[in-house]
Amino acid sequence: AKAGGRNQYRVFDETMRNRREEELELLADLREALRAGHILPYFQPRFAPGAQRIVAVEALARWIHPERGVIMPADFIPISEKCGLINQVGLTILEQAVRQRCAWERRGIDVSVSVNVSLRQLCEPDFAATVQRILETCGCAPARLELELTETLLLEENLVVARNLEKVRLLGIRIAIDDFGTGYSNLARLNEMAVDCIKIDRSLIQGLPRNEEIVRLVIAMCSFMQVSIVAEGIETPAMAEWAQRHGCHELQGYYFSRPVAAAAMENLLLGDAGR
Ligand code: C2E
Ligand code: CA
Ligand code: CA
Ligand code: CA
Repeated sequence: AKAGGRNQYRVFDETMRNRREEELELLADLREALRAGHILPYFQPRFAPGAQRIVAVEALARWIHPERGVIMPADFIPISEKCGLINQVGLTILEQAVRQRCAWERRGIDVSVSVNVSLRQLCEPDFAATVQRILETCGCAPARLELELTETLLLEENLVVARNLEKVRLLGIRIAIDDFGTGYSNLARLNEMAVDCIKIDRSLIQGLPRNEEIVRLVIAMCSFMQVSIVAEGIETPAMAEWAQRHGCHELQGYYFSRPVAAAAMENLLLGDAGR
C-alpha cells in the first residue's frame, strides 16, 4: 500500500508540474501574441427592437493563433487575470474597439461599443486617464463607449477602483453591469452607483419560461432604477419575443449573430442600415 501511495504521489506531482509548465508556455505565447497584434476584438451586435437596428456592439477578445486558429477567451482570459496580463489584453481590446467604432462612424455607421473591463484594470491608478487618452486620440464621444463590469466589482471597497469609476462616469462614459442576476447583488450599492445599463445574464434568459417570475422581477427592478436593460444569450425567436414584450431595450445573442470579426460586423451593420 505504501509503494502504491508513493507512486500515486509521484504521478500527481508530475501532472502538477506539467500543468505549471503548460501555463508558463501559454503565458510566453500570450506575451508574444500581444506584441504581434494577434489579440483582437470580435464584435457581437446588441439589437434594439424599438429602433429595429443594431445600436451597439460588444467587443469580445479573440486570440488569432497562426497555427491553432481562433482561441476563445475561456482559454486565455482566466490565466491573464491570474498573472496580471489582463491589463494589456484589456487595453489592446479597448484601443482597437474604440478605433474601429470611429472608423465606422467616418463611414456613416452610428453604433456604440461596449468593452469588458476586469477588476485588475480598475485597480490601476491611471486607468481613467488611459481611457480618456484613447477616446481623445480617436476623437470618440465618451457617450459612445460603455464599460461592462461585473456586480462583484461594484462591491469593491478599494479606493482606487472607486476613483476610477467616478472619473470615467464624469467623462460621460457609460457603465453597464454584466452577467446581472448571477452573483450576490447589493441593490442599495447598485442604486448608488447610478449605472446606465444592466445586462441580464444568459443563464436567466435561457431558463425561460420556467423562471419567468424571477426574470420579470429582475426587469421590474431595472426599470425602477431607470437603467437600460439588455437581455443576453438570446438564441431563439421565442426568447427574443419574450424579452422584447417584457421591456428589454436591447437583445444580444446567437439568434442575431455570433461574435464576428470587424469586417463581417461591418457587413451586418451596413445591411442593417438598409444600404
Ligand atoms: P461575457 O462578457 O458575458 O460575454 C458574453 C459571452 O457569451 C461571449 O463569450 C459570447 O460569445 C457568448 N454568447 C453571446 N451570445 C450567446 C448566446 O446566444 N448563447 C451562448 N451560449 N453564448 C452566447 P466569449 O466571447 O467566449 O467570452 C467569454 C467571456 O470572456 C466574456 O463573457 C467575458 O467575461 C470574457 N471576455 C471576453 N473578452 C474580454 C475582454 O476583452 N476583457 C475581459 N476582461 N474579459 C473578456
Ligand atoms: Ca460582457
Ligand atoms: Ca455577460
Ligand atoms: Ca462574464
